[in-house]
Amino acid sequence: MNARDPRYDILLEPVRIGPVTAPNRFYQVPHCTGMGHRYPQAEAAFRGVKAEGGWGVVCTQEAEIHPSADLSPANEARIWDDADVERLRLVVDAVHAHGSLAGIQLAHGGLHAANRYSRAVSLAPSGGPVAGDDPVQARTMRVDDIAEFRRWHRAAARRARDAGFDIVYVYAGHGMTLVQQFLLARFNQRDDAYGGSLANRARLLREVIEDTHDAVGGACAVAVRLAVDELLGDEGMTHDGEAAELIGMLAELPDLWDVNLSDWTNDSQTARFSGEGFQEPYVRFVKDLTTKPVVGVGRFTSPDTMARMVRDGVLDLVGAARPSIADPFLPRKIARGDHDDIRECIGCNVCTAGDNTNVPMRCTQNPTVGEEWRRGWHPEAIPSLPAPRRVLVVGGGPAGLEAARALVQRGAEVTLAEASAEWGGRVSRESRLPGIAAWARVRDWRLGQLTRAASAALYLESRLTAADVLELGCQDVVVATGAHWRTDGAGRTHRRPLPWLAAAPVVAPEALMDDPAALPEGPVTVYDDDRFYLASLLAERAALTGHATTFVTPAPLVAPWTEHTLERDRIQARLLELGVELVTAHTLAGWHDGAVTLACIHTGRRVEHACAAVVPVTSRRPDDALYQDLVRRQAEWPDHGIEHVTLVGDALAPSTIAAAVHSGHAAARAVGRDPDLTTAFRREA
Ligand code: ADP
Ligand code: SF4
Repeated sequence: MNARDPRYDILLEPVRIGPVTAPNRFYQVPHCTGMGHRYPQAEAAFRGVKAEGGWGVVCTQEAEIHPSADLSPANEARIWDDADVERLRLVVDAVHAHGSLAGIQLAHGGLHAANRYSRAVSLAPSGGPVAGDDPVQARTMRVDDIAEFRRWHRAAARRARDAGFDIVYVYAGHGMTLVQQFLLARFNQRDDAYGGSLANRARLLREVIEDTHDAVGGACAVAVRLAVDELLGDEGMTHDGEAAELIGMLAELPDLWDVNLSDWTNDSQTARFSGEGFQEPYVRFVKDLTTKPVVGVGRFTSPDTMARMVRDGVLDLVGAARPSIADPFLPRKIARGDHDDIRECIGCNVCTAGDNTNVPMRCTQNPTVGEEWRRGWHPEAIPSLPAPRRVLVVGGGPAGLEAARALVQRGAEVTLAEASAEWGGRVSRESRLPGIAAWARVRDWRLGQLTRAASAALYLESRLTAADVLELGCQDVVVATGAHWRTDGAGRTHRRPLPWLAAAPVVAPEALMDDPAALPEGPVTVYDDDRFYLASLLAERAALTGHATTFVTPAPLVAPWTEHTLERDRIQARLLELGVELVTAHTLAGWHDGAVTLACIHTGRRVEHACAAVVPVTSRRPDDALYQDLVRRQAEWPDHGIEHVTLVGDALAPSTIAAAVHSGHAAARAVGRDPDLTTAFRREA
């Protein structure tokens, strides 16, 4: 254990928030998990681990206050009636068990709530289509509806107090709430006392803050989460316009200001589009206008940046969602002087993709997320092996590195062999693409842990054959040999290879990742049937190296799955800004004489595009030859002392980096145990 750096002492100071006191400045702001009301035990265990890891305040995700705030099928928290109180108390107890404060964000989505489950009529300051694609319009709230809404909010605040929460939020952020929609002129076109001037549009916010104070009767702090900028210029709230006026008006009314950008795609920007602390310019004005504590976010993972935020008077509490997911023990590590051990968030938004697809979130850096309750996985602790074991891990990509790291933690003697001259596998490769250098943290954190461990032997430039593995004779072998992109066009749209592609000038994705000069002179066609981020990055690289670039996809949108990582609009904008031509709903149909033929997926109509190189991003083939060889030679295992051989990560089934890390982690936990026990998980009633 190291001594704590005194520069970080400031982060461990308690902060008074109205009637309660946060034990330190580490504040986990409300964030979605996809665990919500359907998986309350999972949610409670997940939040409890963060409190254990030292977050002085741990909040739930947004909690719908009423059936007309129904965000189904999203799995948010719910506080519709007293029956929800017991479920929410699980969260409170899990957080209080470690001496932290528990917060709850009360929410009514207004225009954002299509009420697919409850079938309630959607409500809005001014009627109009709900957000998203539902063919549903919200109705304009009458003054008596507003009074009714205030009653619901008061009742929810009382329930939150009864559940034991210490901080109760009024939520006016992310473009997702009624209170915020009243504030914003483009949603609020009323001509009564709740519309028109900013003071009128802010009336409901003021009333709801007062109601919430009343309802909790001084037992809880009342926080306001306010989006101070929507990055829409005059069309929306701006930090140097109405937001400053508004906070000036209500400065001392709440016990805490939680300020950020709206909508969610602006607030939770990925590393590809923003750096640590990216919200500072938008929120730094707030502390000048209020004496109440201020919390803000910005993917803070560096204790230096966090301490500077406090010392420079930008924030009183250092807010985090993603950094607290990637490393629930970040505060304790800083407090212990082990800040080099922080597992830094890489800003990939695989976590938001979990919530956006209505399942418990996953995290690229932290494979234990969502597994705390159902599998009993802890982000820091892992059961030791009952007896010493020698384990060989083949492949030093995300899966192999995580398997080796976790096995060392379990007390195994680990040999890790990597064929190439570099650790990290796909993550090293991909991190050299424009904007995602932070992804290398997946490699660097694991390598940092491994190089400090005496029981790990690490070998680069060691491509192992089955004969080598047998000769090494370890009891357990974990094969994490990865996958390669196919160059034959096979993928979702064309399930079989495109035979003509063999005669076309194809550049493999790996070749372009490794070397921008891999492309020949002339125009480039990037063909995306993968639909996540990679093809867009390769198109960006091609355009940045001066190639006329066409992005072709059978999908109706560019990179549709990145909608879940909140990046799709930014990706499309970036490609357009770089002059990339976008051709959606088309597939590859042929190549001849320097031109690729594209076919419309609806009509079959064909067009030709000048093309000197095709980069197909369609699907990957597992590199599992070593595993297959070992299986063929299974009869020889006992002679060499080999008991188990496990195939993990992309070599088993190509997927996300998060899935590879999880797979390597699961394999490490399974060593020496009945595999059935390690794959099974508890289910919530
Ligand atoms: P994953 O995402 O599953 O970790 P990657 O493709 O990122 O997969 O990493 C797999 C790694 O395994 C690559 O770095 C590759 O060089 C290495 N590898 C593949 N075959 C062998 C082998 N036979 N011996 C050692 N390393 C190998
Ligand atoms: Fe950070 Fe990615 Fe983990 Fe989300 S999934 S917390 S962005 S590392």
